[in-house]
Amino acid sequence: EVRVRFAPSPTGPFHIGGARSALFNYLVAKHTEGRFIVRVEDTDRKRSTRESEENIKDALKWLGINWDEGIDVGGPYGPYRQMERLELYKQYTDKLLAEGKAYYCFCTPEELEAEKQEQLKDGKTPVYSGKCHHLPKEMIDQYLKEGRPHVIRIATPPDETLELDDLVRGHVSFDSNNVGDFVIVKSDGIPVYNYCVVLDDALMHITHVIRAEEHLSNTPRQLVLYHALGFTVPTFAHVSLILGKDKKKMSKRHGATSVQQYKEMGYLPDAIVNFLALLGWTPDTDQEIFSREELNQQFTLDRVAKNPAVFDIEKLNWINFHYMKQLDAEQLLNVCLPHLQKAGYASAAPAAEEGQWLKDMVWAMREHVQYGAQIVDAASVFFAENYAPENEETAAVLQEETAPAVLRMFRDELAALDEVTADTVQPLFKKIQKGLKVKGKFVYMPIRVAVTGVMHGPDLNVIVALMGRDKVISRLERSDL
Ligand code: GLU
Repeated sequence: EVRVRFAPSPTGPFHIGGARSALFNYLVAKHTEGRFIVRVEDTDRKRSTRESEENIKDALKWLGINWDEGIDVGGPYGPYRQMERLELYKQYTDKLLAEGKAYYCFCTPEELEAEKQEQLKDGKTPVYSGKCHHLPKEMIDQYLKEGRPHVIRIATPPDETLELDDLVRGHVSFDSNNVGDFVIVKSDGIPVYNYCVVLDDALMHITHVIRAEEHLSNTPRQLVLYHALGFTVPTFAHVSLILGKDKKKMSKRHGATSVQQYKEMGYLPDAIVNFLALLGWTPDTDQEIFSREELNQQFTLDRVAKNPAVFDIEKLNWINFHYMKQLDAEQLLNVCLPHLQKAGYASAAPAAEEGQWLKDMVWAMREHVQYGAQIVDAASVFFAENYAPENEETAAVLQEETAPAVLRMFRDELAALDEVTADTVQPLFKKIQKGLKVKGKFVYMPIRVAVTGVMHGPDLNVIVALMGRDKVISRLERSDL
């Protein structure tokens, strides 16, 4: 059975790269009918917060990346939070100490620093000298009794080649002499990431470790620990970095980097999932829209590319727009409403009439809304009072010789209607064409510009009906009829 896991450190906003790692693991589990586990790596006491853990959980749930075992849901190999597993780690540390595979190190930070400088001076990779490796037992007992600060180090066998066949990166090897005897338990008694992760992956029977490329450099240390502990080494897949369009590592400079931000901007979870799947996974056709079902069926690690993935926001917008178009008016309003409220374009709890108006309005604007927040720009035509023709070309439309007569006639016809609806407004344009003997363009364009300030947008009769008679007439009259 395939068992994969996502093991976030809850130390800040949930990065889009983390979501991609979670998704790849999830899809591998779905594809193979395996199990997907979520556990929390919270041994960095200073930076880990429960708030960040909640945030990650909420984001995963929002994306529909659900897990079979782990925090909240439990499972046979819990607890799933590292700080709740300290007792367990200690048993293995004691065992490693007893077997002589790990040892106490009492070197002070000053000694270690001096050692390091010495090695650097000689052009060597700084690794621990092994000074405390063979301290006499009496001395160790004595130091421990005195309460001397100490760490615990793993004894890394020298002159070994540490190798792995990474499913993405291929064959990778490291020289154990460059790894050295590294710390597995810090002076405060808390085990380090590289140690916990190995124990967790082994004890949770993880078969495939799928994670970001930045962890490849940790892998030799983890291999040393698998060997020392006598555990089976899982299969690794280190997924490439995500770069911005300028080919630099994706960062805040490139725009929003956290899942939360995309959620707040009104992106849809299906679209984000579709987009994230394509950040590294390369299906063998040029299909770009994938339903969740298709992803579950088609996703395999052998089609995950070695070269970095490029985060293209325009592509995300295009994919999101595709999913937005699947929504009905009610759903579209739900996506847009928070943005309208924030802009002051909708009340906190729109009552029936306002609710209906908002629904009609977002529906009319749907071609202009790739993601929720864009509704604000699209809707501003109804709310912004200081609208004006957006540029000279637009303004010129109102300078046409026939424009004043067109606007005047439209105003009068509109004023005379019993009821202003998209259906009652539509025939007026033809009537004006006939009455003034002008082409359609010379009717629609000046009215559109006078009323909306721009030359494009949804059907004019729809705009007029949504805006309402009074506002339209007052805008027409501003154009010096
Ligand atoms: N806690 C690590 C991180 O958030 C994950 C390490 C791993 O997947 O092995 O980057």
